[in-house]
Amino acid sequence: MMPVLFVGHGSPMNALEDNQFTKTWRKLSDQIAIPKCIVCVSAHWLTNGTFTSDEEKPEQIYDMYGFPQPLYDLKYQPPGSKFYAGKIQKELGIEVQNDWGIDHGTWSVLKHMYPQADIPVVQVSIDMSKPYHEHYAIGQKLRNLRDEGVLIIGSGNIVHNLRLVDWKREGGFHWAHEFDQYIKECILRTDHKGVMEHPMSPAVPTTDHFLPLLYVLGASNIIDKIEVINEACIMGSLSMTGYLFYR
Ligand code: ZN
Repeated sequence: MMPVLFVGHGSPMNALEDNQFTKTWRKLSDQIAIPKCIVCVSAHWLTNGTFTSDEEKPEQIYDMYGFPQPLYDLKYQPPGSKFYAGKIQKELGIEVQNDWGIDHGTWSVLKHMYPQADIPVVQVSIDMSKPYHEHYAIGQKLRNLRDEGVLIIGSGNIVHNLRLVDWKREGGFHWAHEFDQYIKECILRTDHKGVMEHPMSPAVPTTDHFLPLLYVLGASNIIDKIEVINEACIMGSLSMTGYLFYR
């Protein structure tokens, strides 16, 4: 059975950098059997309705603005998978939409984990009109794919408040650490209800970066072991903390 992974992707610049976070991502792929396909729920594909893409050659999209040119020159172009996209469609009862592509929430991380870009990648969109428990339920439906060699990844950030970012600050604000810690304690005691009933916090001013976590928790299993990765708050209002659920 394949693991399930939540990654805090942070700044798109991580795609180019070699830092403590990207080093962890690189190491993770050594811990995980080579996936037949990667299914990624990225905080950056937000839709009205849930969709997947089934293109054989999905386009890499540069859905971020104002960054240095080398980031827009970076190529990460894995194949897609009609086969697994078809399975997801059936399992979730959803439609295909091919007007998106592989976005930076996905490629900035996979570029480190699977630099050869030789493993097929299929993204699943996030329906922003759904309540928390429905995102979790979609994750539960994706769980079976773990038995078929699919690595499910949720890519977002547990604490993500861009308006309050302090670029010069190394650690996080008090409330950022507090929220990150609260979520960690819930996850480690498998209290997914506690995660979904988290207190109001400036950590989650909008839910887009938080929601990928709910898909991952849904796809996790009570008997999985849990590894906390990259536990850190940075720039005041971002957390890089991630979780690997594995057998
Ligand atoms: Zn992001």
